[in-house]
Amino acid sequence: MSNRDCSTSRRGFLGTVAVTLAALPLGTLAPSRRIFAEELPKLDEQAAEARAVGYVHDASNADDEQFEEGQHCGNCMLFSNEDEGWGRCSVFPGKRVSARGWCSIWSEDIVTDA
Ligand code: SF4
Repeated sequence: MSNRDCSTSRRGFLGTVAVTLAALPLGTLAPSRRIFAEELPKLDEQAAEARAVGYVHDASNADDEQFEEGQHCGNCMLFSNEDEGWGRCSVFPGKRVSARGWCSIWSEDIVTDA
């Protein structure tokens, strides 16, 4: 292989790397930052998405015929990452809900025996 062939293939390789890097989304190269539950804003009871499912911060204020005594976010299978009485709910991504709250989507945590 001549020096000229080697130079040409190196240039081709570097060009391919440059094109590949340019095609990557900027977020791919940026260091990822984990968002902790306590950093999320609390869900506003008056927000349209909250009102649509009758969400309240305190289950004792639930005004919905589907509500049954003992149901609250803290024992709903869609609730996670509780921290100081607030946690994540998969129905409201990007918000925190109260562990004492409730909405009409409340779901019983299903425990199966293996
Ligand atoms: S789905 Fe469950 S955790 Fe989410 S707001 Fe409704 S009751 Fe609370």
